[in-house]
Amino acid sequence: IAIDCGNQEVLERTSMFVSPREVEARFVMGLPAQGRSILGQEAAAMFLHEIPQIAEAALFFHRLDADRMQRHVDVVEDHAVLQETLEEKGLVAFVADGAILPRRSGIDNRPLTEGAIPFVSPPTFRIALTAPNGGKITGMGIPRGVTLIVGGGFHGKSTLLNALKRSIFPHIPGDGREYVVTDATAVKIRAEDGRSISGVDISPFISNLPYGKDTRFFTTPNASGSTSQAANIMEALEMGSRLLLIDEDTSSTNFMIRDHRMQSLVTKEKEPITPFVDKVRQLKEDLGVSTLLVMGGSGDYLDQADRVILMEKYRPVDVTDRAREVVEQVATLRRPEGGGHFGRIPDRTPQASSFDPSRGRREVKIEAKGLKEILFGRERIELDAVEQLMEVSETRAIGEMILYFAKTCVPRGMGLREGLDCVLREMENKGLDLLSPYKLGCFAMPRIFEAAAAINRMRSLKISQKGIKLDIKK
Ligand code: ADP
Ligand code: MG
Repeated sequence: IAIDCGNQEVLERTSMFVSPREVEARFVMGLPAQGRSILGQEAAAMFLHEIPQIAEAALFFHRLDADRMQRHVDVVEDHAVLQETLEEKGLVAFVADGAILPRRSGIDNRPLTEGAIPFVSPPTFRIALTAPNGGKITGMGIPRGVTLIVGGGFHGKSTLLNALKRSIFPHIPGDGREYVVTDATAVKIRAEDGRSISGVDISPFISNLPYGKDTRFFTTPNASGSTSQAANIMEALEMGSRLLLIDEDTSSTNFMIRDHRMQSLVTKEKEPITPFVDKVRQLKEDLGVSTLLVMGGSGDYLDQADRVILMEKYRPVDVTDRAREVVEQVATLRRPEGGGHFGRIPDRTPQASSFDPSRGRREVKIEAKGLKEILFGRERIELDAVEQLMEVSETRAIGEMILYFAKTCVPRGMGLREGLDCVLREMENKGLDLLSPYKLGCFAMPRIFEAAAAINRMRSLKISQKGIKLDIKK
């Protein structure tokens, strides 16, 4: 007997519904059997004794810890309000003083229990926000623009970024990140060599590929580190991201930097890549898209940053002024290569032939194989590099969303953004039950970014570029 309950993050899900009139719990139960015979007595005991006992213990308010429950609701509500406040205050993220960011291990999302150093904001970044339940909360506010996180190895840079990438969702009480809040449209960007790319315009970053390969409609079954990172950015922008989160640990070096010496050795005509360092300001100025970047390895980013945060023994320090001095004293010598404007972000429209959910004799066979893989008909969609997928219930919902999108949006010629927006709005209005012909308790609400990420990684995806949403060129 099991119920889908999520883990550290709080997502809307179909396992529980609470309304003023009733409470509905959806769970799974394995019926007892021995070989091919049904164990009726045991089944009766489960139905008549165990289930009522569980329901009695779990679903009646008088049996629950009222304070704990109130705290849970308070924290989730506060996160939602603070996330809206970010926008009003011109911020992209907030990390409360006292937050516990490190996790128990690389594969354990629960808080580090021993030796965790609580977060303390640098005085110059400290602001106070007001949460409806938590009251006044002080912490580090990160404004829009280009923010650089620097510092020595093992000083907590990635830990900060990882906390932010997951704080698009609320965290449960006791997690340590209850009052860490990130812009809801934040997308973690990384290199992902080997992925499939279909009809993405990566020309802002990459042009003049060998043998004239088109980068305005870039298609490959096997992307390189740099082309995959470029595509990941363009796809996030297409879906409306206003904040990119990038870590040098998971980036492609030649996509991120190209220093003076390399510019001298390999001239621009021979290098297809315009490194991110030449595009990061245009993202802000042309598109209003902010970047939060962990970069301990290249000082060329200092010229581009609005502010620089140094992580020192897990403590953030404002070194913006010091960075300005360094920029004045130590010339970079490199030439900007980014041109005058960011470039195009065309609308992409998937074609009907991309989607075939059938397998064998089954007309529709869709399955989430754990958190990072969807089987869609005969297609295996690999999501290992999609870092902001929180739980398998979300992955499962995305699998069904693809079918729903293919059935209802593709025939009407809707683009990926327009169609997914439309499907998500329907899911919000009518509930996630929309995704299945019968009631299931194992769906959680995904974001548009992860849903699009799955479609974009389908090896069968065929795209046409229609309107150009943004063509910022004089
Ligand atoms: P960096 O990216 O700067 O190289 P990481 O963020 O990977 O460093 O952190 C290095 C180690 O320090 C990790 O094992 C992490 O769990 C731990 N760590 C990070 N922040 C804290 C903290 N506030 N308290 C205790 N340990 C921390
Ligand atoms: Mg790191």
